[in-house]
Formats: sequence, structure tokens, C-alpha cells
Amino acid sequence: MTELNDQDFDLAHIWHPYTSMTDPLPTFKVKQAHGAIIELEDGRQLIDGMSSWWCAIHGYNHPELNQAVTDQLHKMSHIMFGGLTHDPAIELGRLLLKITPPSLDKIFYADSGSVAVEVALKMAVQFWTAQGESQKTNFVTPRSGYHGDTWNAMSVCDPVTGMHQIFGSSLPNRFFVAAPQVGFDDEWNQDDIAELEQVLKQHHASIAALILEPIVQGAGGMRFYHPEYLRQAKLLCEQYKVLLIFDEIATGFGRTGKLFAWEHAGVEPDIMCIGKGLTGGYMTLSATLTSKRVAETISRGEAGVFMHGPTFMANPLACAVAVKSTEVLLAQDWQANIQRIEQQLQHHLQPLSALDYVQDVRVLGAIGVVELTFNVDMKSLQQQFVKRGIWIRPFGKLVYVMPPYVITEQQLNILLEQLVNVVEQMQEVSAWTC
Ligand code: PMP
Repeated sequence: MTELNDQDFDLAHIWHPYTSMTDPLPTFKVKQAHGAIIELEDGRQLIDGMSSWWCAIHGYNHPELNQAVTDQLHKMSHIMFGGLTHDPAIELGRLLLKITPPSLDKIFYADSGSVAVEVALKMAVQFWTAQGESQKTNFVTPRSGYHGDTWNAMSVCDPVTGMHQIFGSSLPNRFFVAAPQVGFDDEWNQDDIAELEQVLKQHHASIAALILEPIVQGAGGMRFYHPEYLRQAKLLCEQYKVLLIFDEIATGFGRTGKLFAWEHAGVEPDIMCIGKGLTGGYMTLSATLTSKRVAETISRGEAGVFMHGPTFMANPLACAVAVKSTEVLLAQDWQANIQRIEQQLQHHLQPLSALDYVQDVRVLGAIGVVELTFNVDMKSLQQQFVKRGIWIRPFGKLVYVMPPYVITEQQLNILLEQLVNVVEQMQEVSAWTC
């Protein structure tokens, strides 16, 4: 039997995210990546608009991050965290406590964003159980949210875009309230929080926590909402004895123009999840942070411990590169850089709102979103983008970019000019729409 070439082997045997194994989407083979450039095997160079799904904030092949990994590799790549500890975990912990909400004091390192969310949900349940409130096991969350693909993370994703119908009754039932409607810069309207208030009033006795993505709902629709929503939500959580969990996995490390999105509202959560940009996209690592109050309450419970302990907890390579990535970010005028990116996004994307098939254009920090009136055909659109030397992966009605912060002014201009060009030509190419 002749061996399949790489591309065919990949299609035949390797599952990619959210794809069929009988009719897979084509993939492009990457040889290497550096800065904001992804180089394909055939030599084509693409300007990256995705930061590998929010995480490669400093771009690829960053010399200082490479060095941090290499240095740690020579000491140890991994060691179990049960009963042992190490410098990278401690150094990262010191750094994280300086940049996250002041009331957060305890850090749980986990392997991925989804696991950080699982950990947060478990913390909330253990917190109430430890106080004899073992009926408080459910969660409330706004629609259009996204929190990951593992079981309980998925249960708090938007029930429609999160494909709850596929999993039916195997998924626990959560309380869903309307997604925030008041935009980031719009005038606040108290009606936006009314359903949350109603649900908390009626069901707080069974609810352990409210979980949400502060300010930016990412994969559930790339929606930006008003900071007052968070302030009001916090008040309601206090009133109805429900913990507040912020999922900052996508919004963290400068992406929205603040180091973390909670800063837009000045509201501190009881539990916060971070990931993605934590390691500058070098490898998978996440963390769930919580307050002394939550951690100590859990520890006083019948179990006496927090019941979670992944094999790769606080992986030293990942922690070492996370320390370096965070240092690299904090050592530069990252705010000015994000503002520069924001202005370029505004300048290029805003005119698209004049097109009748463009529903909305919105920009916040280093995130630019063009929402269309129809679902895009991801396959042909992606091929168009690649042909034009840019890497953008649209979904649903959304064509959006969140480039690595190292993208130069010139690279970003090219990326956006090409994006705009493709969107402008969309109407003429009906095959691109479905
Ligand atoms: N929460 C949010 C807000 C996310 O954007 C994501 C990833 N897109 C996750 C959780 C899940 O993270 P991971 O893919 O690392 O499991």
C-alpha cells in the first residue's frame, strides 16, 4: 500500500477543531512562524490576524520566550506538583498576584482554559457545600457566552451556539439569562440586568455562582457590553449570596485595552480564570485564582481540601514561559501599542458598516469585528484570505481579527486592507455565502 502524502494523511486521520472526519475542511501546512508571520510549507507567508485564537500575544518564535523555555528545559521540563514545588510556579504566582484583582490571593494552575473553568465551577460548589449549603450546585450565565468544550464548561456556553442539542440531557441544565444588550459605549439601561435579577431572586437557593466573560463575549458572538452590567451583577451576587466567576481566558493580558477586562468596571470577582495569553501562546497553561475567603472556606469543609490535581499541574516549562511572557508585556508601553492597533482597526474596518450586508462593525482594544447579515462559507473565505497573504478564520456571521501585539503598523495595514477588500467583494460572489 502506498503511503499517503502528509496532507492526505492529515485529512484522513487527524481530527481538527470542529470538523467532520468524512468531509473535513482543508488545512494549510505550516513550516514555521515568526513575529506576526506564518510561513506555509510551500513558502507562502501569511500575516497573522488570529494570534492562534487569542494566545500568541507576542507573536511567534520570540527570542526571549524561546530562551526562557530553553533555560527551563535544561533544568527540568516537568515534575509532579503533588508534594513538590519549583521556582517557575512560585515566580509566576508572585507576578500574577501583582496584576490580578487585589482580593484574589490563591492560585490553582491547570492545563487549559476549559479545565480552569471546570476548576472554578468546582470551587464554587465546594465553597457552598463547606458551609452546609449543599443545594447550591447550579450556575447562572448570560446567553452568547463561551467557556470551553469540556462537560461543565460546555454546559454554561450559549445553549444554541454551544450546540447543547447535540448532547441533550447528558448536559446539566443551567440557568440562562439574556445576553447583555447595551454596547460598551452605549448609554446604560437598567433593563439589561432585569432578567438576571429575576432569576437570582427566584433561584438563588440552588445557584452557586454566576459565570461570565467580562466586557467581551468571545467565541459566543464577539460581543462587547457595558461595564455597568458587571457592577450591577456584582451587587446582585452579593445580595443573593452567589459567587461571581470571571472568565478572563480570552480577555486577559491586554487584549481589551486593559490588562484584564474587569478593570473596565472596577469590579472584582470571587474567582477568575486566565489562560491563552498567559504563556504568550507557547504552550497550554491556565490558572484559576480565588480569594482567601473562598479558599479558606473550601479548606474548612468536610473534604478539607480542594478536589482537583491534574498530572501536568504547574508544568515548569509552561510556568517559565508564562513568567517571561508577562514580563515582556509589562516591560513595554503595551497600552500605547494596543491603542495604536485599536486606531488602525477603527480606521480600516469602520467604513465597512456602510455596506448593506454588514450588520455591525465593532472594535475594542486589539479586537476588530465585522458582523455580516449572513453566515460566511468558512472554507472559501479562508482560501480567499490565504490567497491574499493573510490568516483570518471567520465563523458564523463574523469576520474578526485579534492580531499579535507585535504586528507592525505596515503589516496591520496590509492585513486590514486585504480583509476589507474581501468583505467588499462578498456580494458579488454569491458562492461565498450560505
Ligand atoms: N473561556 C473562554 C472565554 C475562551 O475563549 C476559551 C477558548 N476559546 C476557553 C474558555 C477554553 O479554553 P481552552 O480552549 O484552552 O480549553
